[in-house]
Amino acid sequence: MADCIFCSIVDGDIPSYTVYEDDDVMAFLDANPLARGHTLVIPKAHHERVNDLPADLSTAVFDAVHDLTPHIEAAVDAEATTIAVNNGAAAGQEVPHVHVHVVPRSEADGGRPIHALIEDRPDVADAELEDVAAAIRGD
Ligand code: 5GP
Ligand code: ZN
Repeated sequence: MADCIFCSIVDGDIPSYTVYEDDDVMAFLDANPLARGHTLVIPKAHHERVNDLPADLSTAVFDAVHDLTPHIEAAVDAEATTIAVNNGAAAGQEVPHVHVHVVPRSEADGGRPIHALIEDRPDVADAELEDVAAAIRGD
């Protein structure tokens, strides 16, 4: 798509430190990494959100995440990784082309878990949990 940074990377118009590529998926180092080895895994086709991905492409992206993660950890001697998607602008997505962040982590990095994303958490009663679960199931 025109004016999409990640489509320009796929097309080779913007350079990247590519670590993996196949017909459907590409992975490259983040230009402003949260840690050494911070990698972005993307579908080559332009889709804005995970919700927009065809199922086979979703599978291909996560297969690549699965296969790359141990190599990323080993390359930078990381103890773990945070694997995350900012899925939509309200969730902090700045580049509107689906990308999975694979961020190498260690006990000493001072980083926090995904549960630190939101400090003001709702107090959800059991009845409401049941309602929300039913709504997600489509009951
Ligand atoms: P988001 O906030 O949309 O989840 O993450 C976008 C990510 O893309 C950021 O971590 C940012 O550093 C990275 N990024 C933005 N522009 C470029 C670029 O031109 N090249 C690379 N390799 N990464 C980029
Ligand atoms: Zn794009």
